Amino acid sequence: REQLDLESARVMFLRVSDAMVASKDLLTELDRAIGDSDHGIGMARGFEAVRRELERPPFGSVGALLHCIGTALLRSMGGASGAVFGTLFRGGGARLHDERALTSAALARFLEDGLEAVQARGGARTGDKTMVDALEPAARAARARAGEPLARALPAVAEAARLGVERTRDLVARMGKARTLGERALGHVDPGAASVHLILRAMAEFVSA
Ligand code: ADP
Ligand code: MG
Ligand code: MG
Repeated sequence: REQLDLESARVMFLRVSDAMVASKDLLTELDRAIGDSDHGIGMARGFEAVRRELERPPFGSVGALLHCIGTALLRSMGGASGAVFGTLFRGGGARLHDERALTSAALARFLEDGLEAVQARGGARTGDKTMVDALEPAARAARARAGEPLARALPAVAEAARLGVERTRDLVARMGKARTLGERALGHVDPGAASVHLILRAMAEFVSA
């Protein structure tokens, strides 16, 4: 598909929510290795709240849709990742209030502005072993493909995030709970980075179906 109208984008984020709720055990396992075993619980709670909000259309713009998702995450999740993922969606939607369709260019703006907002709020840089390590390459891939049909861009963006997740295995954490583990975090991927990949993968699957 070239792009998604607002109703299709809403349905896509419902599917993303289902995917995140279904990933609860996987994400909790990842957080058990280098955190406090609650990442899957938080994300599942957050996207259950998103699912409830998205049952009430219509949304007037891509920005309104993303803002609604971010607010639901912020209100329901708590923890470091509630602020981080809420900020990703709210910050990412801030300059998309005139957009009536999700295009590849709008996707690039969402991920770039979301990344900037997350970094402004939490201070994580690339290589700190956080979700930024998946989001940053995803945003770069989205910018590189901003002229392509969404159905071609999104799978590449999701793949860039997946490679970013894999690279977190070799990183010592400088942010979040895993910071105190030092070298014991080596060999384990960052759970928040895995969530970024799962969100983008579910988006890619929706547009490719
Ligand atoms: P908590 O650490 O409060 O238990 P979660 O387990 O739900 O929260 O989320 C942990 C994830 O949050 C980490 O894997 C990391 O990706 C992300 N995270 C933590 N702090 C930051 C930060 N300052 N910037 C970006 N991401 C962060
Ligand atoms: Mg945790
Ligand atoms: Mg916690």
